[in-house]
Amino acid sequence: MDKIIIAIDGYSSCGKSTLAKGMASRLRYIYIDSGAMYRAVTLFFLRHNVSLDDAEQTRQAVENITISFNADNRTILNGEDVENEIRQMEVSNHVSQVSALPVVRRALVRQQQAMGQQKGIVMDGRDIGTVVFPNAELKIFLTADPEKRVQRRFEELKSKGIKSSVEDVRQNLSQRDRIDSTRGDSPLRQATDAIVIDNTQMTRDEQLAYALELAYSAGAVVE
Ligand code: C5P
Repeated sequence: MDKIIIAIDGYSSCGKSTLAKGMASRLRYIYIDSGAMYRAVTLFFLRHNVSLDDAEQTRQAVENITISFNADNRTILNGEDVENEIRQMEVSNHVSQVSALPVVRRALVRQQQAMGQQKGIVMDGRDIGTVVFPNAELKIFLTADPEKRVQRRFEELKSKGIKSSVEDVRQNLSQRDRIDSTRGDSPLRQATDAIVIDNTQMTRDEQLAYALELAYSAGAVVE
């Protein structure tokens, strides 16, 4: 076996995307940010005032959404590059409510599973090791000190020119973590066979080197 599936899950702002991107680039795998897909659905719902309590409206909305990624890994919603917009606080403040809806999850999980059919994929999210790819050859569950996560996310938003305060970020992270881990449909859980990495005291390079060793042990082959 040369190509494997790598699932990376964890709480908000643990550095999942950074690790997933780094691994995909070194292994020449596809990288999929599943959170970006939930964010794109949320943006569509906000733009079209979709009421989350209205089953018919949400079903129709989901049917009218096509999400893809371009060569630079930017998120494309119905043909439009929405990468910048989906990172705004407005989307962050609604995404957990939208992604708790089973109708949304069913549609996105189906698409995510299709993306992994040829293997050779690193996907990060909340339910990748538990629901999307329960048979993934490598499952990583990332954690980090909550305050460190707040600082990292704040710096990241600042560097992208997105307005926020440390307090807004702190509240958003704790609210999303609470909703994501308590929702009825595929809540954020550590898969029983996941390997936990706490990266609070690790540099990006240390974390990447360690995770790549895990990937090679799980069957990934260096090209
Ligand atoms: O990864 P990111 O923080 O951008 O994800 C945004 C939100 O999307 C999460 O807070 C969660 O509500 C939702 N999500 C999810 N399942 C995934 C990935 C993200 O419910 N696999």
